[in-house]
Amino acid sequence: MLLIIIIHLKHIYFTFLNNLQLNSSLITCLLPTHLKIFKRRYIKKVIQIHCEFIIFLNNKVAVKLLPLLPTQPSTKTFMNHIVIIGNGISGVTLARHIRKLSDNKITIISAESDYFFSRTALMYVYMGHMKFKHTQPYENWFWKKNRIDLVNGFVEKVETDSKKLSFKDGSTITYDKLVIATGSKPNKFGWPGQDLKGVQGMYSKQDLELLEKNAPNNTVCKRAVIVGGGLIGIEMAEMLRSRKIPVTFLVREKSFWNGVLPEGESVMINEHILEHHIDLRLDTNLEEIISDENGRAKAVVTDKGDTIECTVVGLTAGVAPNIDFLKESGIELGRGVKVNRFLETSAKDVYAIGDCAEQHEGIGSRRPIEAVWYTGRMMGEALAQTLCGKPREYNPGHWFNSAKFLDIEYQTYGWVFSEHSKSDDEHHFHWRHPKEKICITIAFHKDTMKFLGINTFGIRMRHEIFDQWLTENKNVDHVMTYLKDANFDPEFYKLYEEEIVARYNADFNKNIRPEKKSWKRIFSKA
Ligand SMILES: Cc1cc2nc3c(=O)[nH]c(=O)nc-3n(C[C@H](O)[C@H](O)[C@H](O)COP(=O)(O)OP(=O)(O)OC[C@H]3O[C@@H](n4cnc5c(N)ncnc54)[C@H](O)[C@@H]3O)c2cc1C
Repeated sequence: MLLIIIIHLKHIYFTFLNNLQLNSSLITCLLPTHLKIFKRRYIKKVIQIHCEFIIFLNNKVAVKLLPLLPTQPSTKTFMNHIVIIGNGISGVTLARHIRKLSDNKITIISAESDYFFSRTALMYVYMGHMKFKHTQPYENWFWKKNRIDLVNGFVEKVETDSKKLSFKDGSTITYDKLVIATGSKPNKFGWPGQDLKGVQGMYSKQDLELLEKNAPNNTVCKRAVIVGGGLIGIEMAEMLRSRKIPVTFLVREKSFWNGVLPEGESVMINEHILEHHIDLRLDTNLEEIISDENGRAKAVVTDKGDTIECTVVGLTAGVAPNIDFLKESGIELGRGVKVNRFLETSAKDVYAIGDCAEQHEGIGSRRPIEAVWYTGRMMGEALAQTLCGKPREYNPGHWFNSAKFLDIEYQTYGWVFSEHSKSDDEHHFHWRHPKEKICITIAFHKDTMKFLGINTFGIRMRHEIFDQWLTENKNVDHVMTYLKDANFDPEFYKLYEEEIVARYNADFNKNIRPEKKSWKRIFSKA
């Protein structure tokens, strides 16, 4: 739970934003809306407690806030040299928590940037909502003050016998414990022309800089084609459309992201993409990228036989663990770096966390590789305990995530599988607003009616409430009865619980009466 205190004229307001730990892209949409009710121009000061992210006021001003690190010297002293390759959310969370718990020597290595930044906020830099420096949650002095050494370099070789890393420039560094937190890289599937100029992914700071060069405006970039209909693809489309660049979006599936989303939701997102003037081509694969005389992409050819002229091709067909440099290391690799529940690899004193780690077996219904922000953070927290003498398994609890499809916020708690992946026992209740792009899907067990999970689009829900209902094995009738407690939309937003429950009653021949929202019940769970 995040407490925000807003000092507005002589009054002090408190607001609790308890979904903010989900991911940082959500923050950018949540907070400005919250502040709207306080008339932004009168806000004198915003103080944030317990926050690891940057927050944005009116999408222009970024407020940097520091996490609470102990200023007292730690009582425990371990003097291992812990070397972390990767300064993303997983590596940096690990380093911060090790420092909270110990005096170990910590070095973080990255080839991408001097300082940690929020990858999920990269799109807002291109869209002009903020500068790159505003994506850095910590001031530059933070690292020295907390005795975390930063090394900018690319690790080419890992020798686990001599505990030595070699950099591209020939220099070396030794470790006592090594943590691989090297994230992901965009997938390339051997398409002809995939390495031409103008063809790029959208993952790193360098990708952002390249996009700025390739697509500064719609005079230089007359059209972009994006290949791959996932979350990064739709973000890239939104970025380019913000500069009025025409976009064609090639999606292999018959409906957008329908391997993950149930049909009703997927269809709604198809409509939304088209309404944003994005040329969505479903059920369409890339065959080839054609070069001009200077080795630059000038068109793509699809498997439907269409040739689409363009100057930029965005490859967003998923990501894969960024582990090529480990091929000769002797560390067991699958698609990612194989780890057990303690995040230990096959090599002594070597661990892996974040997007690049692959569990031997997926935990519960989770995939063995979880390339999402919050799981990297949870792995970093768990491994810090282990490295500081308190072995802790990675135990992520109930699945949750959030994202944004253009301007529609999406949240998911528990499991709601798509028609392609759900079992026969999983039933769905779906409600969609007759006009707006707002809908929910609730999954439950067909015999026991046990609540399995919920997806919401355009309605914000409280994480803690669903977490608790999942833990307590509540049934779907309970969820319907107390749905108002779960709503987390700001004051004065239109609420839809009455309509949702009425539809549920009609669909399932029930007579549920939704209870009034109770702050007492809510705070007993928060
Ligand atoms: C555009 C975009 C939007 C996203 N939006 C969301 C979202 O809304 N919600 C969500 O949950 N997730 C989102 N994600 C995914 C999320 O950002 C990742 O899951 C998360 O950043 C992974 O963190 P990490 O610490 O594992 O690795 P990374 O953040 O990838 O950091 C790894 C670092 O290691 C460096 N590195 C790699 N190899 C070496 C080497 N050999 N030597 C030195 N350095 C090396 C890399 O350059 C990189 O800096 C998004 C990702 C992108 C690209």
